[in-house]
Amino acid sequence: MTDTKKLQALQAVKGMNDILPPESARWEWLEAMMRSVLQRYGYQNVRTPIVEPTALFVRGIGEVTDIVEKEMYAFEDRADKHGQAEHLALRPEMTAGVVRAMTEHSFLRDSGRRLYYFGPMFRREKPQKGRYRQFHQMGVEAMGFAGPDVDAEVILMGSRLLRELGLKDGEHFRLELNCLGEPAERRAHREALIAYLEQHQALLDEDSRRRMHSNPLRVLDTKNPALQDMANGAPKLLDFLGEASLAHFNGVRAILDAAGIAYQINPRLVRGLDYYNLTVFEWVTERLGSQGTVCGGGRYDYLIEQLGGKPAPAVGFGMGIERLLLLLEEVGTLPAPDVPDAYAVIPSAQGLPQVMVALEALRAAGVRVVMHPGQGSMKSQFKKADGSGARFALIFGEDELARGEVAVKPLRDEGAAQTTRSLYDVAGWAAELRNA
Ligand code: ATP
Ligand code: MG
Repeated sequence: MTDTKKLQALQAVKGMNDILPPESARWEWLEAMMRSVLQRYGYQNVRTPIVEPTALFVRGIGEVTDIVEKEMYAFEDRADKHGQAEHLALRPEMTAGVVRAMTEHSFLRDSGRRLYYFGPMFRREKPQKGRYRQFHQMGVEAMGFAGPDVDAEVILMGSRLLRELGLKDGEHFRLELNCLGEPAERRAHREALIAYLEQHQALLDEDSRRRMHSNPLRVLDTKNPALQDMANGAPKLLDFLGEASLAHFNGVRAILDAAGIAYQINPRLVRGLDYYNLTVFEWVTERLGSQGTVCGGGRYDYLIEQLGGKPAPAVGFGMGIERLLLLLEEVGTLPAPDVPDAYAVIPSAQGLPQVMVALEALRAAGVRVVMHPGQGSMKSQFKKADGSGARFALIFGEDELARGEVAVKPLRDEGAAQTTRSLYDVAGWAAELRNA
């Protein structure tokens, strides 16, 4: 101990959260559920660095986007011995990093890749419910496939993810769909859109006025309530689509229709990143206020080339884990918290080695058993056993140990009798403790 003033405890960075038990168990449950769905479609896990060159995101996401203009944690690294410092950024999303990795390792040379990821993303936004500075996404990227079959596949997969988590289409979420066409169609639409925005210039907020010429499509993405009527009346990209784009869009729709996946076409759905073309989609909910987009994605056929790779079409989505958990909580479909099968009550330190060997045998047999640490009074040990939620207390009393036995006391089953079991045959009765 020093006699200096008591140091002030530090706190986490604003908008960046600790995920602690029991909440962390929900995360594990969610990830396991998702992995099971993703694997059924043949998607493989990919893990890329959290820090990437800033240029990757500027080129990938687009210079005139909220993410790059305002939200990115970008910094200059320390200079090396030649005085050169790298410009680095915490990833605000994952697609650009996955594209970089696939290109760097020539992973798309021979065939397409179906990939998924989990991980933290970083955006300097105003923290609020469902919006954080460090948040987590589960996402998929199907690269090297032109669609529309694979567009439909990722949408079917996203829909299955939500439904298998207990959410109901129509009641808890809905799917919105749009087609952004191809660059030539976007150029024709862009001119019409700029002309329209110029007519409504007086109405526009500062962001929209600034973007009107540099990135007019982005103006349609505005969340400003005062601009909704203006944005709804704007020229629609859908009216500028040529035959091939329409055929692609209708191809996706035919599969979704056949599979019974409901969707609404939202002509204003443009997504917050510049790299999309053709199919874009979002799953939205009414239950999380203005943080209502749980998952968003689309096709990005030109991004890989734009980031220096060999041209390849691709489609993917990103799902916000925090928002999904908030929604699951709201709807009440989260599973009951995980509890151990048994709690080991150990009255004295006398037989500890024998007790702990027996606990190891139980764990080897798949039993989830928590040991009471450091002994202490029986009363306090039973209180802990009860609080743990375990269905059984295992009582390693001195008398029992002397006979090579343990007492098994049911904790949740009123009236069920306490029994004893042999410590020489743990594997023989361990199964009784598991999910009894
Ligand atoms: P929003 O319009 O709500 O800002 P976005 O269009 O910026 O979302 P994307 O870049 O498409 O979001 O990211 C995919 C998903 O990641 C979103 O649908 C959302 O569920 C989640 N997400 C995005 N930003 C955040 C954040 N700051 N905090 C929590 N989740 C987020
Ligand atoms: Mg955003």
